[in-house]
Amino acid sequence: MTRAASPVRFLVTCEHGGNSVPAPWRARFRGARRVLASHRGWDPGALGVARAYARELGTPLVASTISRLFVELNRSERHPALFSEWMRDVPAEERATILDRWWRPHRAEVEARVRRAVRDERTIVHIAVHTFTPVWEGKRRPTEVGLLFDPRRGREAAWCRAWQRGIVRAGFVAHRNRPYRGWTDGLTTHLRSRFPDRCYLGIELEIRQDFFDPGGRAHRGRGAAIASEILRAMPRAIPETDRRAST
Ligand SMILES: [Zn+2]
Repeated sequence: MTRAASPVRFLVTCEHGGNSVPAPWRARFRGARRVLASHRGWDPGALGVARAYARELGTPLVASTISRLFVELNRSERHPALFSEWMRDVPAEERATILDRWWRPHRAEVEARVRRAVRDERTIVHIAVHTFTPVWEGKRRPTEVGLLFDPRRGREAAWCRAWQRGIVRAGFVAHRNRPYRGWTDGLTTHLRSRFPDRCYLGIELEIRQDFFDPGGRAHRGRGAAIASEILRAMPRAIPETDRRAST
């Protein structure tokens, strides 16, 4: 049995919404146009979905359109993958400038919005919208929708269990903590270290990229339906845990 409890506030973010590289560093990516256009450079489709969700939920959207190969907003400051191979030999002062201008503002704005909600004693549900490549290391991924969270956080687990059930009912293959695990280095993991489970739920929504064209537009039919069906299936209040083990 699930029963609706306290209402929540939402925050929608998009860390990999585009693949632009600021002009002073563009020369470094000469010859890398195809990589930039691929899933390595950005999350095709994610920004459109994030925009639609923010609009529907009446919440702010915090989004970036800078390529993850320029600087990776979903990695912490000390993570080795913060800068890609195209940026690795950039001098330290330039890196500091890049972090100040493009990495920190996004992270700080998301964190400030969470803090404000927490101060008002509201629970905030942060939905970070991502997309993932359908084929990895030669294998086709069966997952169509992934919900990533930390299983040790009971309310995130309950939220994602209820959400997954709804998405499956709508006819899509939805998995929890696939194709990635929700507790590795990332923006939601960082925020969990700052805010307790009772006021912050950090969930990464991952949608398979073959629902979109290479430019990020949703395909007709099932592709057009997936984003709205996922949103329709999403809980609007914290589901009361049904006492089953949270995984
Ligand atoms: Zn992403």
